Amino acid sequence: MLREAVARLRDGRWLILAIALALLAGAVAIAGRIARDQAAGDLRDGAMAALPLAAGTLTGEIEKQRLVPLVLARDDAVRDALRRAGKVEETALDAKLRAIGSDASASAIYVIDTAGIAISASNAGQPDSFVGIDYNFRHYFQEAMANGAASQYGLGTISGRPGLYLASRVDDGGKPLGVVVLKVELGGVEASWRSSGFLVFVTDERGVVLATSQPDWRFRALAPLSAQDTALAHERLQLNDAAFEPLPMERGGGDGLTTIDGSGRPRQFVEVVQDLPGAVPGWRLWLLTPADAALSSAANTARLTTLMGLLLMGLLAYVLTRRRRARRLRQEALARMNAELESRVSTRTAELTSSNAALAGEIAERENAEAKVRRLRDDLAQANRLSILGQIAAGVAHEINQPVAAIRTYAENAGRFIESGRAETASGNLTSIVSMTERIGAITGTLRTFARRPGLAASPLPVREAIDGALSLLSGRIRDSGVTIVKPHGSPSPSVMASRIRLEQILVNLLQNALDAMKDRPDPRIEIELAERGDRVLISVRDNGPGLGPEAAANLFMPFQTTKEKGLGLGLVISQEIAQELGGTLRHDPGHAGGASFTLDLRRIE
Ligand code: ADP
Repeated sequence: MLREAVARLRDGRWLILAIALALLAGAVAIAGRIARDQAAGDLRDGAMAALPLAAGTLTGEIEKQRLVPLVLARDDAVRDALRRAGKVEETALDAKLRAIGSDASASAIYVIDTAGIAISASNAGQPDSFVGIDYNFRHYFQEAMANGAASQYGLGTISGRPGLYLASRVDDGGKPLGVVVLKVELGGVEASWRSSGFLVFVTDERGVVLATSQPDWRFRALAPLSAQDTALAHERLQLNDAAFEPLPMERGGGDGLTTIDGSGRPRQFVEVVQDLPGAVPGWRLWLLTPADAALSSAANTARLTTLMGLLLMGLLAYVLTRRRRARRLRQEALARMNAELESRVSTRTAELTSSNAALAGEIAERENAEAKVRRLRDDLAQANRLSILGQIAAGVAHEINQPVAAIRTYAENAGRFIESGRAETASGNLTSIVSMTERIGAITGTLRTFARRPGLAASPLPVREAIDGALSLLSGRIRDSGVTIVKPHGSPSPSVMASRIRLEQILVNLLQNALDAMKDRPDPRIEIELAERGDRVLISVRDNGPGLGPEAAANLFMPFQTTKEKGLGLGLVISQEIAQELGGTLRHDPGHAGGASFTLDLRRIE
């Protein structure tokens, strides 16, 4: 599928390339053609410009000498000689003719009598002298005798050289005496034509070449002559054996040029032609200029120029297209990058927003949890306070009930003793009552101490006082349970920075737990130890109860972890928190054998 599309695309590209090449070739060919036509036109203009000069050279040469026989026909010396016709040698006339001929640069001037015999000639006395030659057969003689004047192009009978014969009849009072003839040889004209660089020739009315810059073309015909024309030409030119072969020239091709194929290599010429009105009737002058080099050079230049121009334009178009395409691709890439960047930014923003929201949620959750923990802690503290209060209240009730009942009994008995007049015994009872109220006062005093609000400002406190306070608070239970309390020895007591009630609260908790653990144990015993390590004070409470299993030890300071039927599992939690509040710690000592041991670690002050 894809390959097919690519192939089609490639095909399309090749097709476009082929069309472009065809158009290029066409344009180059047309440019060559136009340049060729234009060059041909230029050549034709050049030839047209050269034509009058070529014609003038010929007509000038002829006209210059045309008058000579006319004038001589009226010359008395000529007449006299003709009258004497052949009886004497005309040496004087011969000399005259030679002189005139030389002035007029004629090739020969001669005088013919009525019988056609030359009686005098400019070349008399020379080997090729015309004198005595019979010219009766010549057309120019016969025509001049008949019409007064004649001209004829032909070959000389003696010299064999071509020339134009101009003849004038010599009259004597209406009676013809003979004919004066002047032969113009056109060799000079032909030489001047040749040197002009053009191919120039003259044809007669039948198209037979006469004077020519190309000597081997003489007496050849423009086109094959008909039998009648051939006969007429033979007769007119008096060339009986001439074949009048057609020239190797093909005229009026498709491009208006003339092709000459003389030596097997056809050459092209631009041809112009004109009549020669002043010269001999029926003569036409042809001028041909070689065109091959000029035409092909012009065409090649034009082709090359066009090719270069078109290639340059193509290159320019290609470069511009490439640049435009590159710019478009760059813009597209930029747009793509922008879009990607934007999408990345928006994705990242979304991610950040969601993680922000998550964070905010987490923070809120945490705050919630913290608030919950705070609430819980407050609740726990309150519960603990209530619990301790309850226990203390029960302890107090127990402690006070007994003396109050005893006071009542003492008071009732004292009343009876007084009624019976035993005042002394009654007084003893009253003394006992006083001592019992003292006992009650001590109990309420301790209670007052405990009832002070927690969180009161800490102050330097000797640890021993706090231990005594706690033991005093629990004295009823201790006495009832029969436990042995071993208090720390030595003095003075180290001091810590603490609120007395808070510290007692911890110790009461620890002692109560120890008492609880040893409820049904024989020989229960609690040891309270006091040690100092550096700036620390360590207060340990140890019992010889069952101790703690590994699981219980792991969950010790967790709220609501209790093994007691009516326990809350808050005592140790609160105690630990108070310890921390006082800048210390409360920990279980797992290494203690034969019971449980807890140590309160506080900072000592001096
Ligand atoms: P409560 O006394 O209400 O149970 P506490 O936090 O004071 O709460 O004590 C938690 C638990 O730790 C007790 O239930 C008990 O199982 C255990 N425990 C505390 N002290 C001792 C001790 N001295 N000997 C054995 N177990 C103890």
